[in-house]
Amino acid sequence: MSSPQYDVIVVGGGPAGSTVSTLVSKAGHRVLLLEKEKFPRYQIGESLLPATVHGVIPILGVEKEVAEAGFTVKRGGTFKWGKRPEPWTFEFAVSSKMPGPTSFAYQVERMKFDDILLRNARKHGVEVREESSVVKAITDETGRVRGVHYKDSDGKVHEVFARYVVDSSGNTSRLFKASGAERHYSPFFRNLALFTYFEGAGRLPAPNAGNIFSVAFEHGWFWFIPLSPDLTSVGAVVHQDSAELVQGDPDEAMRRFIDACPRIKDILGDAKRITEGPYGSYRVRKDWSYCNSRFSGPGMVLVGDSACFVDPVFSSGVHLATYGGLLAARSINGCLAGTVDEDAAFAEFEKRYRREYGLFHEFLIGFYDMNKSEDSYFWQARKVSESASNDVEAFVELVGGVASNDLRLTADDLAATVESVEHKPGGAANGTVLTRMLKAGAGLQGRALLGSRSGEGAALEPGGLRASDDGLSWVRS
Ligand code: FAD
Repeated sequence: MSSPQYDVIVVGGGPAGSTVSTLVSKAGHRVLLLEKEKFPRYQIGESLLPATVHGVIPILGVEKEVAEAGFTVKRGGTFKWGKRPEPWTFEFAVSSKMPGPTSFAYQVERMKFDDILLRNARKHGVEVREESSVVKAITDETGRVRGVHYKDSDGKVHEVFARYVVDSSGNTSRLFKASGAERHYSPFFRNLALFTYFEGAGRLPAPNAGNIFSVAFEHGWFWFIPLSPDLTSVGAVVHQDSAELVQGDPDEAMRRFIDACPRIKDILGDAKRITEGPYGSYRVRKDWSYCNSRFSGPGMVLVGDSACFVDPVFSSGVHLATYGGLLAARSINGCLAGTVDEDAAFAEFEKRYRREYGLFHEFLIGFYDMNKSEDSYFWQARKVSESASNDVEAFVELVGGVASNDLRLTADDLAATVESVEHKPGGAANGTVLTRMLKAGAGLQGRALLGSRSGEGAALEPGGLRASDDGLSWVRS
């Protein structure tokens, strides 16, 4: 068996792959990222959570580019859901874990967002090869993964070796099987989604115009995501009973679903469906809800949709992908530096990743019960996350991705975020005062603002692993 050419090979350049590759490269290791497509490429998953925007993105060092991309600011979510006939709205700002300038996320065109993250990986020293499709893992006589075969754009097959291979090739991954994992599909989340794009749709009244609008109706529920002043992502998540109609005549299916959902029909108004370019078709996804029996195997780590995904409601996909990427990078960096042994490092990765996945999974099962009031959903979130916050805060923290207290923000990160948001039209922060305050007060004020979020990544149990001060590795507590 050849010796490693790379420390790490990352397969797939979505949010999971860009995150893990950047953070391993930042720790000084040699990383190759292989991506099947030429970026920018289309992907669904447009509504982000504050944990990604203010937790992971600053650690990746890409907050300025993301803030300047002109993405829609999302202050929370508006739901027509459960027993209440009128829509109800939650704001991230109600939680002290997402104070002031961190109490928002973005609605993103994934073509642009993923491209920013992939270019950032390259900027941080990752060797990125696009149009390079991994076809097979290379294993040694013990079954440990040692590298991969990939096909370039000319169809030529190459062999590359590394100490670790990360599979972040998304929901279509087959590579994950080389880790020994099996994929278990959820018996509960068995819907399908039909989605497309409109121009000229209405908006929720201010200040909620940037919110995701989720509307339950007799066949399931709709998402309505304002991606720019003119562009809106609209998707119907419906029971598999509608599969024949959706796959046979998606235009007719969408028309019927919209007609059956007056609030979506109203807000769409005279909007026109886009019929050209990457947003010009109907797209269908199903069988998205699964969790693998393990998230790593000898020489291989699984991150993002390659490992697990719950359901589109509450937009947890990119959060799980980027948070999983951060956890995987800490484990790989710890192993490569020799500060933690492999079993402990990957057990830590899996424990924390599964815990976050589990929070969303358990909460969302209860959330699909439409016979409840929003107060019951809030209470359920507090129960699931075992939070000490009140019910509403616990709900907002869970759906903001910060329930696990595991994302590290520093005062400097916060100041940079405030500054970039302040210069953005319609930015969510009352920036001027906060920027001056943070800049003048340096660490202390920032940490006070962050409250319990400072010092995150603490050990889960006495003597366990905690995040290193730079957030890039594990150390013994
Ligand atoms: P991906 O983004 O899929 O990236 C994987 C990359 O790997 C791709 O670029 C692909 O080209 C590449 N690749 C694949 N195979 C190979 C190969 N063999 N070799 C090399 N490269 C390869 N999430 C949210 O956060 N918010 C939402 O609003 C949301 N809505 C959703 C709606 C629906 C209907 C569904 C199904 C999902 C939704 N998600 C949402 C989830 C989100 O799409 C995913 O969780 C997220 O894209 C996962 O990121 P990733 O990096 O793991 O995978």
